[in-house]
Amino acid sequence: MSMTHRKRHRSQLDENRSLALERVIRLFELAEETFGKNPELADRYVRAAWKLKTRYNLRLPRSLRMRFCRKCLSYWRPGVSSRVRVKSGRIIITCLRCGRVKRLPYGTGGGSKLPAEALGKNVNTACDQKLED
Ligand SMILES: [Zn+2]
Repeated sequence: MSMTHRKRHRSQLDENRSLALERVIRLFELAEETFGKNPELADRYVRAAWKLKTRYNLRLPRSLRMRFCRKCLSYWRPGVSSRVRVKSGRIIITCLRCGRVKRLPYGTGGGSKLPAEALGKNVNTACDQKLED
């Protein structure tokens, strides 16, 4: 049985997906910026990002996955809308809105220092797109 390795077109879909991912990242940056002033708007950014994620079947980087609640789709600001703990090599994030608990493995060596990404510090500050009503 021979494998026919044939690509259809140069994948337009892949291109769309990488654009979608960029947009998702930007939406999270906006959510981070907005959260202090308007948490509800921040949640709307998260929902918009989630829509893109599901539509394009994107795989989000870990730094984004620990920034929002998958259940209630609220933006997680540690200490405000989420509680972040490290326990025996795991990051445990509790959503303070709906109570969902997310556990992520965290590194090796059992250090107790939180990664910057869990604390939402790993954000670039590009903001050329706003979601407005
Ligand atoms: Zn939640």
